[in-house]
Amino acid sequence: QDPAVAAAAPGLARAAASLGSPLVRAEATLGGNIVSALPYRNLLPVLLALDARLLLESAGGRREVPFDGFVTAPGRTRLGPGEVLTAVTVPALPGFQDYVKIGRRNAQYVATVSAAVVVDTAARRVRLAFGNAAPVPFRSDEVDRAATAAVDWATGAVRAAGVAEVVELVRRAVDPPADEVASAAYRRHALGVLAGRLLERAGAGGSDDA
Ligand SMILES: Cc1cc2nc3c(=O)[nH]c(=O)nc-3n(C[C@H](O)[C@H](O)[C@H](O)COP(=O)(O)OP(=O)(O)OC[C@H]3O[C@@H](n4cnc5c(N)ncnc54)[C@H](O)[C@@H]3O)c2cc1C
Repeated sequence: QDPAVAAAAPGLARAAASLGSPLVRAEATLGGNIVSALPYRNLLPVLLALDARLLLESAGGRREVPFDGFVTAPGRTRLGPGEVLTAVTVPALPGFQDYVKIGRRNAQYVATVSAAVVVDTAARRVRLAFGNAAPVPFRSDEVDRAATAAVDWATGAVRAAGVAEVVELVRRAVDPPADEVASAAYRRHALGVLAGRLLERAGAGGSDDA
């Protein structure tokens, strides 16, 4: 809800706004969301798409690490003994950002699958990242190259053929889990749908009609 966060990192604000319920959000922290490191955590795909950096501090010193690679397995991270996550840095980028998740109901649910998009109009680059698409938050250079190529940077429009290519690439690249909530095949299909939906929204200038 912080206007400064919503202005600088709208994708992060969207992901936070769909976490749990108002009561849960009043208690939940960014640090806990990251360090618990579960594949369905809301904020992880956006932080990956934003190429976030984490500041880790302990009595012995401090170090900054990329979020990319910080989660090593479900529930496991590169946090060292005695270290606390004290700050998260994300760039304020010009361009569309969004986060979507699919779950069993419309409120207070964890993501069966999720996806985030960050468009950087200055660098002319699109980054997509996904939750519950693999054991750790997932992105792929090949997917991002195709997503970037799908955009007509002169007009901001997104080519339908480019979207279709991204959807197929995502479905080929992901390695989603199967559990009591959904099969791997369902997740693979749904992740493609979410990627396509986010790219279409980006091309429509952020309209929810896409
Ligand atoms: C009803 C309900 C609904 C929920 N819905 C969602 C949802 O939709 N999406 C979602 O992502 N999550 C959801 N959650 C899970 C949880 O509330 C959030 O992920 C929240 O952001 C976790 O933050 P926390 O501060 O409560 O972490 P905690 O649970 O207090 O901590 C989690 C772990 O991280 C460690 N930790 C916490 N902060 C730090 C730090 N700064 N440095 C190092 N280690 C740290 C703790 O020691 C612990 O091991 C839900 C929870 C409930 C109860």
